[in-house]
Amino acid sequence: MLAEQEVFVAFFMAKPRTENIDQPVLALSGVSVQFLNHGKALHVVRDMGFRIDRGSRTVILGETGCGKSVMAMALFRLLPANAIVSGNVFLNGDTDVFSLTHGELREMRGGEMVLVPQNPMSHLNPVFSVGFHIKETLRRVNGLPKKRMGERSLELLEQVGFAEPPVVAALYPHQLSGGMAQRVMLAMSMAGLPSLVVADEPTRGLDAQSRDHYLALSRELYRDCAFLMITHDLAAARTCERVIIMYAGRIVEEGPVEKVLGQPGHPYTRGLIAAHPDNGFTTIPGMPPELTDEEHGCAFEPRCTGSSRSCCDPPPMKYLSGRHRVRCCHA
Ligand code: SF4
Repeated sequence: MLAEQEVFVAFFMAKPRTENIDQPVLALSGVSVQFLNHGKALHVVRDMGFRIDRGSRTVILGETGCGKSVMAMALFRLLPANAIVSGNVFLNGDTDVFSLTHGELREMRGGEMVLVPQNPMSHLNPVFSVGFHIKETLRRVNGLPKKRMGERSLELLEQVGFAEPPVVAALYPHQLSGGMAQRVMLAMSMAGLPSLVVADEPTRGLDAQSRDHYLALSRELYRDCAFLMITHDLAAARTCERVIIMYAGRIVEEGPVEKVLGQPGHPYTRGLIAAHPDNGFTTIPGMPPELTDEEHGCAFEPRCTGSSRSCCDPPPMKYLSGRHRVRCCHA
């Protein structure tokens, strides 16, 4: 288990980017994660593959337990020792993340690739001020002189919308609201000029005003990065260009946000949209499969109102149009 300060360093230790502009910033293929638990294998992520280009925003949607946060932790190799991870993750074309040494990985995390974790408050050290957190991150970027680090930390706080940066810099984590803590994390994430930012449930627990403020700021600040957001929040998802729908550890639909959320091709995506409070709160009957289950046919079949004898086994990923793809026999 990492100590609190080590977690902070792991997420935000920074290094200038070394990107190849002709390649996607993030490219995954065949990524699977299993956990060994009392001799049983739990299949949490299965054969994930997608890419994110520079300057684009992708969101992963799915119910709790579908594997989206585990997938994010796997990208940063932050899973515990009983996780078995396979597949390939390439950053900026030629950096094979799963082959990096521990030292190389430490340089990469927080520099070229930043994970903004769930619940920012639990990742801010309660004994250090906001200003210290940001200066510590900057110190690891390029060893700015002390005076310049102070100035830069105030600039970052101003960039994320604080009207009085020196006042905020002097605050301690317990003095921040949820929205303020999220903006402090935004400032810290930008200290290393990342090419990839992964934000896990960044709008969770925020009121509508703070959420809208965060989303507007993140669009502005991460405009030159590849941005991957993990969320349950459909309104937040609509601020992205592409959406990936995950069910039982697999991608079941992927495509442009307006296509997938406007004309969903998979019954699960339709159920997810109907379950949103704004759309009537109609829950999907049944439960997801057990993580210990071997796959037989379509994982969504027991809950699917459209299942029939002609459902194929297992359903292939079909391309509907362009880069809109769906894992359903009847799409
Ligand atoms: S393959 Fe059949 S059971 Fe699976 S989602 Fe499509 S219609 Fe439903």
